[in-house]
Amino acid sequence: MENYDFDLFVIGAGSGGVRACRVAADLGARVAVAEERDFGGTCVNLGCVPKKLFSYAAHYADDWEDCRGFGWKPGTAEFDWSSLLANKNKEIARLNGIYRNILKSRKIRIFSSRARLTGAHEVEVGGERYRARYILLATGGWPWKTSFPGNELAITSNEIFHLPELPESIVIYGGGYIAAEFASILHGLGVAVTLVYRGEKLLRGFDEDIRTFITGEFSKRLRLELNREIESIARADNGQLRAILDSGEEIATGEVLCATGRKPMTCDLGLENTRIERQADGAIEVDEHFETAEPGIFAVGDVINRVTLTPVALAEGQIVARRLFGGQDENMDYEYIPSAVFCHPNIATVGRTESEVKLEGKDYDVYLAKVRQLKHTLSGRDELSLIKLIVERESQCVIGLHMAGPDAGELAQGFAVAMNCGATKADFDRTIGIHPTLAEEFVTMRNQRKVHAVGT
Ligand code: NDP
Repeated sequence: MENYDFDLFVIGAGSGGVRACRVAADLGARVAVAEERDFGGTCVNLGCVPKKLFSYAAHYADDWEDCRGFGWKPGTAEFDWSSLLANKNKEIARLNGIYRNILKSRKIRIFSSRARLTGAHEVEVGGERYRARYILLATGGWPWKTSFPGNELAITSNEIFHLPELPESIVIYGGGYIAAEFASILHGLGVAVTLVYRGEKLLRGFDEDIRTFITGEFSKRLRLELNREIESIARADNGQLRAILDSGEEIATGEVLCATGRKPMTCDLGLENTRIERQADGAIEVDEHFETAEPGIFAVGDVINRVTLTPVALAEGQIVARRLFGGQDENMDYEYIPSAVFCHPNIATVGRTESEVKLEGKDYDVYLAKVRQLKHTLSGRDELSLIKLIVERESQCVIGLHMAGPDAGELAQGFAVAMNCGATKADFDRTIGIHPTLAEEFVTMRNQRKVHAVGT
């Protein structure tokens, strides 16, 4: 028997890492974790949680406008960025504490500094070396900026959560999750947003109907520069930035937010001291049990770049811990993972897009409705919601569910359960709706591709 200091050494106390620590410790393992930043990782500190708080803040702008149709006479709205930041920071500090307590209460050894692999079963942290039977890499990802002159003047999603002042205007570069969410958030908070995206429709990878719809909705609210790239950024004498597009157009702006993707965090991790391999995108390569090419070293979450979502990292971390210390033989199921983009309106998606189904060569039917939410009959807001089901013809299973509309994330979660259970279109149809809601549209879709108004 080898003499190890720990049964499991986790590098990175984000979603996947902390979950693995907790489950392993509950199963009796001696666990250590190293984290050089705040506990909770991207999700808690620079992602999901603060972003959702900002998103709530931004929604009040719409509520303020919408309430007039319902008889309210609102006064002048004033928004104070510093209050939002202070309240957000307080909440994040509370969550950091909760994460730390999860670890401390289980007697998990915490190293608040950077750790490096020094061998197959060895980690160096705080100037000491420790031996561990298993090691889990859960170091997450980091924003990545495209390369162009002046890109150092652009901020990323890391900095936007701590901006001392809200700029009057911003150029957001990219058309993915972060670009879409921050375009909506900052627009809602009163910033003049220009979104520059190299493609024709936002949110590549989402269903084409959703992409067309959301691009249209965005264009009603903010300036979209599609099929455009940023060629350079420079600072003008007045302190403003100038973003120069490939069209030659120059946009004067307070900030530029580069939301051009994230890369796995593997720098200075000591991978060269092991047999661990990386893919072309930098992601650590793992097998179906999340084990790297170095036996005993595992990796989960954004650093393996499979599905870079918090709940996926949690599930992966849990699977590894249960397998190593609970003898359980689960495999991660990547089918029907729901996800939401918290832009305005929200987007949610479960299962396959129509393009994916086409590629698979399956016969399918599409049920699609563009619906005017009941609320907007009085608010007067020019906003529709889109809902779409894709049904495999042979099995009649609902294999794709897509939505753009208010609270889409809240709404899609329940449908994801049904789809994971293999729900058919007939199961949807015989489910009684909750009236009057947008959600009931999913169980009352009789015709393929229709456009109508709620209640008609
Ligand atoms: P995404 O991959 O979603 O989007 C990156 C964007 O940058 C795309 O529009 C992409 O364009 C564009 N881009 C990439 N390379 C270049 C380039 N060389 N020049 C110009 N444009 C470029 O990344 P995000 O940073 O927005 O988010 C990272 C991940 O974090 C997401 O994929 C998601 O998994 C996760 N996330 C999840 C959230 C949620 O669940 N709500 C919220 C935020 C993030 P193109 O489409 O043409 O490739």
